[in-house]
Amino acid sequence: MSKEELWRIVLGELELSISKANFTTWFKNTFIVNIEENSLTIAVPNIFAKEWLEKKYRKKILQSIQKNFPKINTFSCIIETDQNTKQNSNYNANNTPSIDSLVKKNQDQSQNKTINLRREQSLQFQTPQRRVFSSNLNPRYNFSNFVVGTNNELAFAACQAIARDPGKVYNPLFIYGGVGLGKTHLIQSTGNQILANNPNVNIRYLSMERFANELVDAIQNKHAKEFKNNYIALDILILDDVQFLAGREKTQHEFFHVFDALYQAGKQLIITSDRPPKSIPTIEDRLRSRFEGGMMADVSNPDLETRIAIIQKKLLEKRFELNREIIEYLAENIYHNVRELEGALNKIIVTAQLRNKLPSLREIIDLTKDITSQNQRKDLSSNKIVESVAQYYNIEPKDICGTSRKRKVIKPRQIAIYLLRKDLNLSYPEIGEIIGGRDHSTAIYAFDKMETELKNNPELTNQLKFIREKFVDY
Ligand code: ADP
Ligand code: MG
Repeated sequence: MSKEELWRIVLGELELSISKANFTTWFKNTFIVNIEENSLTIAVPNIFAKEWLEKKYRKKILQSIQKNFPKINTFSCIIETDQNTKQNSNYNANNTPSIDSLVKKNQDQSQNKTINLRREQSLQFQTPQRRVFSSNLNPRYNFSNFVVGTNNELAFAACQAIARDPGKVYNPLFIYGGVGLGKTHLIQSTGNQILANNPNVNIRYLSMERFANELVDAIQNKHAKEFKNNYIALDILILDDVQFLAGREKTQHEFFHVFDALYQAGKQLIITSDRPPKSIPTIEDRLRSRFEGGMMADVSNPDLETRIAIIQKKLLEKRFELNREIIEYLAENIYHNVRELEGALNKIIVTAQLRNKLPSLREIIDLTKDITSQNQRKDLSSNKIVESVAQYYNIEPKDICGTSRKRKVIKPRQIAIYLLRKDLNLSYPEIGEIIGGRDHSTAIYAFDKMETELKNNPELTNQLKFIREKFVDY
């Protein structure tokens, strides 16, 4: 088996077991450079991917390799820049060299490259000649008051890497996930950190809505060109909630030019959205592919431990104490987003201050009743997706998860699979499990079929839009 084949198999397996965002981020542009007796070297595009493959994915990668090469018990990663990656893959495609010759070649190259990478250094920020914008950053957000859990570790790590080396590692960074899950906190922290590292940096944070409003004003006052030039002069642009672009053609058009000019100049773009680029309706293809072309990281709901840690951190910040029982009650019952969790805490604190005594658990249950019950209602889960699809096609959710092979349930089943993958980012085995304990290959087949069909079936695209409207939180 060649090293290309081996890596294809390993990637195939990894793709099934981790989320799509993680997979694309960490495994895009990776390849095996050589296989020695019991070790193997993997080329990755940057230091950050190196850390993640060697630490976080070490076990998974090794397990998968060992199925094919049981003797291999370790691996290491070397950094290959894009250009070298291309050269290498062409080289391999034309005339696969012997593994031994590659060992030498890559050892030499990797040493040089590490040096080059260091020499390149980060974006060089000059003192801007005229800084028209304030950074707009809120100093209350920083990395140290952000709690990292499995729900946000990818986005957090990406933000930290960018703060260290803006414009270099991941560009653009696209963070997506539901409301109140820390997107704004993360990107503002990144901005604050960059500014702390280099006060000369010309940086601006704003929401897409505000950008659109400024643009309209500029056009009305015949300053559109100057407006764009001001943005293009930035070193770093942080844009929050770009889903606002949906259906706004003119804004998209103007924004595209700003985006592209910054991007071409190697300036850092950081973007958030409440959903992945694919699920933003009526967004220009070229903009979507730009968004998808950098790094995408999702944030999802924090698990119980993370929620407890968040409450503790917020209490510390607010200099307020609650007993363990109350903390656990809140963490167990407010699970949908962190903003609500904070809202509940604020309510408790205000009440305690007014009454000049700590409310009891029973009083707290009462105080937070509206938040906890609302939480249960709007739980966006796989159930909700299956239900929305079933409802749209006028069948029962149990039909989708059942054994029937009737035409009228097969299509909805495929759509449910597609949405579970696209919008919830579930792995294929997880999806198979939800759709009536089916094999992951069924999920892969359905997903691929839907992707192909969607390309030339506008009616299907429209149906998806309606279904999504049922479950997406606007
Ligand atoms: P989003 O932009 O995703 O809607 P925000 O960043 O506005 O969410 O987060 C909502 C609130 O929850 C903010 O006050 C933020 O500080 C807090 N928050 C969210 N996630 C975390 C976290 N992991 N650690 C600490 N605070 C968090
Ligand atoms: Mg936000």
